[in-house]
Amino acid sequence: MKVCKFGGTSVASAEQVKKVVAIVKSDAMRKIVVVSAPGKRFSEDIKVTDLLIQLAKAVIAGKKYEDKLQKVVSRYKENAEGLGLDLAIIEEITTDLHARIHEASKVSEEYLLDTLKASGEDNNAKMIAAYFKSVGVNAKYVSPKEAGLIVNDAPERAMALPDAYDNLSSLKNSKEVIVFPGFFGYTKSGVLRTFDRGGSDITGSILAAAVQADLYENFTDVDCVFSANPKVVNHPAEIQEITYREMRELSYAGFSVFHDEALMPVVKLGIPVNIKNTNNPQVEGTKIVSKRKENHRPVTGISADSGFSILYVSKYLMNREIGFGRKLLQILEEEHISYEHTPSGLDDISVIIRSHQLSPEKEERIVKRVYNELHADDVYFRHGFSMIVIVGEGMNNNTGLAARATAAIAKTGANIEMINQGSSEVSLSFGVQEKFENVILQALYDEFFAVAAVR
Ligand code: ASP
Repeated sequence: MKVCKFGGTSVASAEQVKKVVAIVKSDAMRKIVVVSAPGKRFSEDIKVTDLLIQLAKAVIAGKKYEDKLQKVVSRYKENAEGLGLDLAIIEEITTDLHARIHEASKVSEEYLLDTLKASGEDNNAKMIAAYFKSVGVNAKYVSPKEAGLIVNDAPERAMALPDAYDNLSSLKNSKEVIVFPGFFGYTKSGVLRTFDRGGSDITGSILAAAVQADLYENFTDVDCVFSANPKVVNHPAEIQEITYREMRELSYAGFSVFHDEALMPVVKLGIPVNIKNTNNPQVEGTKIVSKRKENHRPVTGISADSGFSILYVSKYLMNREIGFGRKLLQILEEEHISYEHTPSGLDDISVIIRSHQLSPEKEERIVKRVYNELHADDVYFRHGFSMIVIVGEGMNNNTGLAARATAAIAKTGANIEMINQGSSEVSLSFGVQEKFENVILQALYDEFFAVAAVR
């Protein structure tokens, strides 16, 4: 049995939805279909999820919102017309959006955002299920609430709870093809919560694990995963097979093809993931697996992501002070801040943080507390950093790899602000100023992927 997930561009228009049906029909193993909200049809287009966020923000601000609501509805209408569906479904979607606004206005702003965002996939799944039926596929829409996709109570960043897997396992017995909306679940007490942006990948993975699928197919709009961002590097090498660990590292820092939280459910069961192209389904795509064939390259991919800040703390004899690190991280915990890396020296430590979690007030509070409570000598934040990550199972025990990487970076004139290598040696990260991100990515790509450079 296969679980297949279709991303936003794969369900953006009637024409795309027709391709989805053809793909599902062509393989009887494709029994569970997870869908996103309609995404972009062309590069300047706006995703339905973003239209829904604009709608929610207008409601929250107490502004007139009918035109924003109609913009959302018109995307569905265009698709319903193109698919030849009964337009009663458009009435239902309009009523549904009004009902969500009405109900959520009595609860909270965060709930309003969550429920409106989730409506994007929910209404799309209902519509796509109706289309499947209209073309003779024995299909049904299944609601995450009834199916028991239980999540924790974290607005906009929910995570599935262990019970969800047991609840969802019975879907494997369905006679019909299941059309399931991605991106959201319900808390134990029945409150809707969405996953992180791009979280329909997570839903697909949870379902694949719950029904113990043979394969999780993730359909998007590219033929495969590339070894570096094709918008920066010209014709980067295509990746045919990649391990879970490699993909996790790469998607964490900039590889947006697959959500970095989406691997966790399938990793435990060793279910392979196949990234495929809805517009070119005959191409094999990229397989994400627990163990892959060896290739001659130590490096599988290089990713880069901006938007990092560094909290720098120094104190003489820090290394002798028991509990210093814990106390520092506790201050961050109390400000609800997660950290990415903590490279350290004898008397200093840097904490690498995603900048979107910070605000000038939070920073001021943190700096004050570290001075007052930890009696540090020096404490400050710096912003505007990128993380460049070199990833590859073949890096383990590969002598000279760091030397090659740092030499390539040195040639760009950039200063390396931080280096981090986990003990698994599957990745090596560099913190650099954002303005150097693209040149470094190109330089590292040339070093590790240009034919003459493969050693
Ligand atoms: N529609 C949601 C988003 O744009 C979730 C997804 O597409 O995976 O983030």
